[in-house]
Amino acid sequence: MKRLVILSILSFVILFNLEGCNSSDSPNANQTGESNQKDSPIQVVTTISQIGEPMQVIGGDRVEVVSLMGPGVDPHLYEATQGDIHTLEKAEIIFYNGLNLEGNMGEIFSKMKEKKVTIAIAESIDEGKLLIDEDGALDPHIWFDLDLWKEALNEATEVLKEYSPENANYFEENKEKYFAQMDELKKEAKEKLSSVPKEQRILVTAHDAFGYFGRMYDIEVVGLQGLSTEDEVGLSDIQATIDLIIEKQVPSVFVESSVNQNSIQAVIEGALKAGLQVELGGELFSDAMGEEGTEEGTYLGMYRHNVNTVFDGLTRGGQ
Ligand SMILES: [Zn+2]
Repeated sequence: MKRLVILSILSFVILFNLEGCNSSDSPNANQTGESNQKDSPIQVVTTISQIGEPMQVIGGDRVEVVSLMGPGVDPHLYEATQGDIHTLEKAEIIFYNGLNLEGNMGEIFSKMKEKKVTIAIAESIDEGKLLIDEDGALDPHIWFDLDLWKEALNEATEVLKEYSPENANYFEENKEKYFAQMDELKKEAKEKLSSVPKEQRILVTAHDAFGYFGRMYDIEVVGLQGLSTEDEVGLSDIQATIDLIIEKQVPSVFVESSVNQNSIQAVIEGALKAGLQVELGGELFSDAMGEEGTEEGTYLGMYRHNVNTVFDGLTRGGQ
């Protein structure tokens, strides 16, 4: 072990002394944060696309972002592939959500932290602003709170600026433009959802991804599963939800693109048996975004899709 350390120090000294040695040829060039390839974009890897797509917009052509988790992928259950590990190894910067969203990747992140800039952007937010469940777990689905997600994206932007100071102004300008669009979306969503009568503002979904969404727009949120899709759905959860739907005459319930639809279907069938026709309000993007190249494949587009789908579902059947 000791000999290895001495050897690597020696080889470092030799490399360091080689006149004209281009460190971009060295396999460690990307890990030291001193990449000489100024013309090539900074290689950023993210887990969820709710981080990746906005950071590609903010990073512009100076950054190349790869998101490991595409449409329909559930981050709670996600297991990294060999290909993912390779992609993470090649990255200069890694951004992930944290707060246990990517529950099976903790060990990988700790390893990457030893080698390169690896940041859990949601964990930069003051915990006092976060939602907490009855078991004391912090809710990781921060991207549904536009203000808090700005804080998380701001953290990621600061990391980029520090990594590449010559591009700091460029990143900052892009961020300001992007944040203005987020503010506009928030205004639009508030106007739209506040026009739904208060007693109809109940959002029933497969798992508890919409807590921040509910807090932001004053909507009661009922998730059949807890904060993670690893949680079990009990028959009693389904029955309690059916009872609530009947009591409050909820017109629609919603499925999520990254979660199995069975539990929501069971609720619809149960309500029907009890004499209430509850509709499927449509598909929401909770933990994964839509297909790349579509509106829903962007963070702002998928958010807008959810606002419109929730509005349509909850105002269905007249008021
Ligand atoms: Zn989730």
